[in-house]
Amino acid sequence: MLEIKNLHARIAEDGTEIIRGLNLTVKAGEVAAIMGPNGSGKSTLSYVLTGREDYEVTEGDILYNGESILDMDVSERAASGIFLAFQYPVEIPGVATMQFLKVAMNEQRKARGEDELSTPDFIRKVKEAAGELKIDMDMLKRPLNVGFSGGEKKRAEILQMALLEPSLCILDETDSGLDIDALKIVADGVNALRSPDRAIVVITHYQRLLDYIVPDSVHVLYKGRVIESGQKELALELEKNGYANIIEKAA
Ligand code: ADP
Ligand code: MG
Ligand code: MG
Repeated sequence: MLEIKNLHARIAEDGTEIIRGLNLTVKAGEVAAIMGPNGSGKSTLSYVLTGREDYEVTEGDILYNGESILDMDVSERAASGIFLAFQYPVEIPGVATMQFLKVAMNEQRKARGEDELSTPDFIRKVKEAAGELKIDMDMLKRPLNVGFSGGEKKRAEILQMALLEPSLCILDETDSGLDIDALKIVADGVNALRSPDRAIVVITHYQRLLDYIVPDSVHVLYKGRVIESGQKELALELEKNGYANIIEKAA
């Protein structure tokens, strides 16, 4: 579903290269974990995948369902089913979360050639998904992410993901700032989205999340490249020994 080949990407503003020859393949149905020390380029990779304009691809390619997406902008990529749950969700004052969800869901439906949701259908879907994520409906009347706690923001991201039914889900450090109960709720929400025709990329600094979202593959990102790939045992090894051994081996 996702094939990243020798990807090089730099910050548009000053030309600093952050992604430096990255290779990664994620199949449909797979949950891939990306781990790596702070500053290794994990968030940058997620932005480049979603087409954020602050970054430029200078070499290599990103194939999604076999086709290059480099020429597609942010909204085209979103419409094609690529979704990013942000490490730092943005606050949108003046837009009620419910309203935001309705517009986003209808945009997605339009892109798929489906009819707009009726209001009762929309509310039923939101109630169901919010219930599973233990999100209070009152919270959804508030402006998106404004004044939400860290945990509420992360749950709101997963709610959007559940409602938009993307094909490629990218979660950037969704576990950071969550206590153990919130972590379990978020993990359950992600696990509920596992499906043979969907790929999920979980970016995390810590192994803890992977106790609850058990990955099919684990990849270590360092200085903008994947320096090691393995199975879930690799995450346990990193937890125990840190990144130093793998970084040394790669050097
Ligand atoms: P990670 O998510 O693995 O912690 P990031 O992708 O956030 O890493 O950052 C990788 C490196 O690129 C860091 O050194 C960071 O400071 C730098 N970086 C990323 N984006 C920008 C930007 N827009 N402006 C300046 N530096 C950036
Ligand atoms: Mg970071
Ligand atoms: Mg990051």
